[in-house]
Amino acid sequence: MHFIITAILAATLYPFYNWMVAFLFVGAILVDSDHVLWYWFKHKQFSPTKTFKYCTDIEKYSDIKEYKGAIMIFHTWDALLISFIIALFSNIFLMIFIGLAVHLICDFLYSYKLFKGFNFQYLFKKSSIKFLWKKYILTTKQ
Ligand SMILES: [Zn+2]
Repeated sequence: MHFIITAILAATLYPFYNWMVAFLFVGAILVDSDHVLWYWFKHKQFSPTKTFKYCTDIEKYSDIKEYKGAIMIFHTWDALLISFIIALFSNIFLMIFIGLAVHLICDFLYSYKLFKGFNFQYLFKKSSIKFLWKKYILTTKQ
């Protein structure tokens, strides 16, 4: 799903940005690697296959509570803001930012369809900086 939309976008932008459109895929597809990071953090286990099952279970059982509690560090307002700021200075990051923005729109529409309501904002409202700060800076000091 993300791949098809991004491929169309890449083909459209290719005349203007050449090989840089490859970075659209970084923003649009690699961002979902944060699901693995979240699973790793939560279950103390690095496992892409278990993460996949965890995600499909949330979808299968419409587990809104689990969905709202998850912190996907690339699916947050500050990750989007940071990539936007860097995008002002770099065309490569501009591609990553566009890819990410399109990805988030797709996720939003998908979650709306899945949960029959607005729930994506719970994921998006969180702050990656706050989460990482609490997780790594504050805990290592103790
Ligand atoms: Zn996503």
